[in-house]
Amino acid sequence: MGRYIDSVCRQCRREGEKLFLKGDRCYSEKCAVERKPYAPGAHGQNRRQKPSEYGLQLREKQKTRRIYGVLEKQFSNYFKKADRQQGITGENLLVLLERRLDNVVYRLGFASSRAEARQLVTHGHFTINGKKASIPSMLVRVNDVIQVKPGSRESVKFQEMKEQAAYKTPPEWLSVDVENLSGTVLAYPIRDQIDTQVHEQLIVELYSR
Ligand code: SF4
Repeated sequence: MGRYIDSVCRQCRREGEKLFLKGDRCYSEKCAVERKPYAPGAHGQNRRQKPSEYGLQLREKQKTRRIYGVLEKQFSNYFKKADRQQGITGENLLVLLERRLDNVVYRLGFASSRAEARQLVTHGHFTINGKKASIPSMLVRVNDVIQVKPGSRESVKFQEMKEQAAYKTPPEWLSVDVENLSGTVLAYPIRDQIDTQVHEQLIVELYSR
């Protein structure tokens, strides 16, 4: 599957805000949005000030895609699925994105960014209910137990991660057992439990055009 090959930080600069795609660096003074608070490219510093309604909707969709690291086609499929479900489409969309395995690994504190979580999952370091789970887009279900596989737990990487995870608080819909590098899905998240700063209704409006 294709992936972004452009600089990750350019994506934040394009959206004009921090999307926290790079883990610890995002919280440091090295953050590109802090250093260059304007869009990338030759004309980045003289962009049009007032975007159109369509422009706002488009940017919100792009921003959400970038936060979760999802490509266009897959995002569109998530939207179709969310639209078919009962309830509020925008919220359904965010819940689907939150249920992705790479996002859950990140939320549990076992990776410093979703990109790192995706890589760790792809490299086969995780199991779901004891079975190997190496597809980042897998959707977790209630009562699923996500765990670092036994052969990886003693690695330096995960021992360091364990120390860091001990200082993080997972969202209410997940429980974490740091000592055993595992987490359980207690429920699907509700909107208030998702701290992603997006206006999902704008995405719904975009796809309803
Ligand atoms: Fe975005 Fe993080 Fe890069 Fe800052 S350091 S621009 S928040 S990815």
